[in-house]
Amino acid sequence: MPVGTMEASQSAGLSPSGAVLKTMHDAAARLQMNQEVVELLSTPWREMHAQLPVRMDDRKLRIFEGYRVQHNGARGPYKGGVRFHPKADIDEVRALAMLMTYKCALLDLPFGGAKGGVMCDPTRMSQTELNRLTRTYTQHIGQVLGVARDIPAPDMGTNAQTMAWMMDAYGQRYGYTPGIVTGKPVELGGSFGRNQATGRGVATCLRELARHEGAKPQDLRIAVQGYGNVGSWTCRIAHEIGFRVVAVSDVKGGIMNAEGIDIAQLDHWFAVAGSVAGFEDATPITNEQLLETECDYLVPAALGEVITGENAGQVRARYVVEAANHPVTPEGDAILAERGIQVLPDILVNAGGVTVSYFEWTQNIQQFRWPLERVNSELDIRMVGVFSDVLARAGRDGTRPREAALDIALERVAKAIELRGFV
Ligand code: NAD
Repeated sequence: MPVGTMEASQSAGLSPSGAVLKTMHDAAARLQMNQEVVELLSTPWREMHAQLPVRMDDRKLRIFEGYRVQHNGARGPYKGGVRFHPKADIDEVRALAMLMTYKCALLDLPFGGAKGGVMCDPTRMSQTELNRLTRTYTQHIGQVLGVARDIPAPDMGTNAQTMAWMMDAYGQRYGYTPGIVTGKPVELGGSFGRNQATGRGVATCLRELARHEGAKPQDLRIAVQGYGNVGSWTCRIAHEIGFRVVAVSDVKGGIMNAEGIDIAQLDHWFAVAGSVAGFEDATPITNEQLLETECDYLVPAALGEVITGENAGQVRARYVVEAANHPVTPEGDAILAERGIQVLPDILVNAGGVTVSYFEWTQNIQQFRWPLERVNSELDIRMVGVFSDVLARAGRDGTRPREAALDIALERVAKAIELRGFV
């Protein structure tokens, strides 16, 4: 069934983009939105599929599949990360592009939404292979990029080094253009604080949630799935704030300590072992058990669709704080709602990354670097403001935070579409 039809989002067992569409269609119905705007937002503006031939270190040719999806650009140039993952197929990338449109609008950033992906396993590739793949990908999608058109950033499986290669490959064809990507190394025009920005934004949401509940972080236990960029920085900054991190996991397994895990010690262990699994001062657990850990705030910060109709009944947290993109399926979400477990949505919780990407882009355009203190304080102001806007809107309308966040975002996107004269 084609994506973009209302039917697609009403059927059971939705694809990732079908699930995002369903949430959008529900919001559009709540807001009694213009049907033409809904139709326009139901499919991406542009989707690029590219064949990416790469000569591997063993001299064999491998052909990868790559994508760039530009969902909606009514509010500004397209913005969104690039994911290198074996499951990064077109539907997942499309779903993530849609989420970016709403995330940028919720944070009131002057961007539309996009996402890129290459179906590959970066953990099984050498740096030279990754370099070649990234350059080939950039050459293929370069024609739809631009500082005022589409600005990629890192996501799962990519990092500052990947962005440096992208910037270089783009620059070879179009001239030196640091603003073409964000999340670059600081030495190449990246922003101070970008690397930890998503985790910092997540930790800010945890802090604000505690404040909202009238609780002290010291009395609250958090469990975090994923110890990559987002998960590890969330743990470090939440630990600094005073939260007790009682469980952490990554692709190789998890650990639990009800007294709280010493994150500095865990970082030492991780640097040697390459995983949180096996850390001595804790009990081993599986990823499934992590999601069922008894805690106050459960923070999925790895893959999408990890809390589903199958396991949402076993979640033992009071809040799910969505650091990953789309970690809860609609079926899982309905069960959490029935059980009175609140969810803070991804487009709010993990928006710290794109917010500092915006700061990086403005710094590149102005050729003027901000000090770290300014980056962190402007990020804090925005995250606190949007957190409070979402809860206020939810209180006013009697909706859940996920609905309130999307309602705010969708109204802004719809307004821009109408003002531009797209409908
Ligand atoms: P990353 O590649 O740095 O880390 C991913 C983590 O997930 C790793 O610890 C990995 O071991 C773990 N993982 C992978 N497969 C797993 C599995 N099957 N079970 C449990 N853990 C598994 O990625 P990241 O940048 O930290 O992104 C994590 C999530 O946050 C993604 O959903 C991404 O879209 C989202 N996100 C990232 C950013 C950013 O700035 N990096 C911004 C917004 C949202």
